[in-house]
Amino acid sequence: MAVFDHIPMGEEGLKEIHQWLDDWVGKNKAVARKEIIGRSPDHWDIPAIFITNEALPSEDKQIAVITLGRHGQELGARVVGPEIIRYLCSSDAEEIRKTQVVIVLPVVNPEGFVSNEFRSSMTSLTKTERLVLGGLFKEFPPDMMIDFHSLGKTAGSKYDRGDMEVIIPANTTRWAVDEQVHQYVAQEMQKAAEFEGWPYEVHTLEDLATYYFGDTKIGNMPWTTLKEKVYLLHMQDSYDNYHIPEEDQYTNYTCGPAYLKWHTLVFGMETNHYALSRASDIALSGLVPCTSLLKMGSTRLPWEKDKGYPVNILHGDFRISIRPLGKNTTDRRASRIKIWNERNNFNLPQREMVDHETTIARVRYFGRDLPMEFALCLRMRQNNIKSITTRGKEVQFETFKDSCSTFVYVPALMERAGTIEFIIKHPHR
Ligand SMILES: [Zn+2]
Repeated sequence: MAVFDHIPMGEEGLKEIHQWLDDWVGKNKAVARKEIIGRSPDHWDIPAIFITNEALPSEDKQIAVITLGRHGQELGARVVGPEIIRYLCSSDAEEIRKTQVVIVLPVVNPEGFVSNEFRSSMTSLTKTERLVLGGLFKEFPPDMMIDFHSLGKTAGSKYDRGDMEVIIPANTTRWAVDEQVHQYVAQEMQKAAEFEGWPYEVHTLEDLATYYFGDTKIGNMPWTTLKEKVYLLHMQDSYDNYHIPEEDQYTNYTCGPAYLKWHTLVFGMETNHYALSRASDIALSGLVPCTSLLKMGSTRLPWEKDKGYPVNILHGDFRISIRPLGKNTTDRRASRIKIWNERNNFNLPQREMVDHETTIARVRYFGRDLPMEFALCLRMRQNNIKSITTRGKEVQFETFKDSCSTFVYVPALMERAGTIEFIIKHPHR
């Protein structure tokens, strides 16, 4: 059974959820704590629940943030947060607690909740969200972020009304195969949901923009956005604290700026509070894709060196990429953020197989954030990489594997701007 078998409504409903959070955290002190991280304009608390295994060092943990209920009348999102919190305190989530700090904001917009009105924005973050999330992220820049919404009988999609549930790889770009990575993860989430009996679709943010702003009449959907890849993100300002300045810039989800600032893995979710008439069904159907994603954050995906969310290809692609360095998760996050913010100052890294036993790789950095440290990573079809040299000297490297290839991971340090070249010696095959 789900935590809530009804949708809490109005002031009483908000108090009911806040009370449940207090009771739950009280009973699960070993793994959960509550912090009030802000207040709504009408002075309701905005609580965040932190769930982790406190006995293990935070330096080794990923940061995952789950926000819910930013659009006040999207009733389904109200019951999913408590369900996720309950799951995270269960024995099934032990591995997640060991390797992650998960922060759940069950009701981001209490004002909208109480009035059962939108009281938010479809195109930018609200001032309250910027302050509350900006403050939280100063200490906890997320590696993964998911924002829960809910579709209704008429709200949401203009062409498929009343029934749809959707996983949205939101606010990502095509930089560094991010679109592929987000789609890979979304499809894993979708499979997990289907296995439990919940039919989800995977839509991009562009698909969603089209059907949110389309027309309900048959034949009246805008078609240009379906034909073309729309770079909605390019208009966002990532240099403010947590801000997208102009009103007409599109970020339906709270996670847009996180991708741009920290290369966070970002998802939007749309549950459905019309087709699923039982609150417990909404809670469970929302929970499943979320647990699938959280579990992925505690495993190693095939192209990643370490366990964690797949956020480490910062430039290039699966075959040659620039990646962060660091002895633990916190160091790698800092390195990731530094490189990500300099990504426009790297050339696309280059590789060339000059003979059957030699591959040369080159990276050019022309920025000013020096010294620049990064790892160059190549996917090789050869097994036993013999040596890697740069400027005539052999360098240390690591390897890791997927099912059919070997990745070489070479730390690099550039004291000044220019080009660095690596010569990789490998067996003939
Ligand atoms: Zn919404």
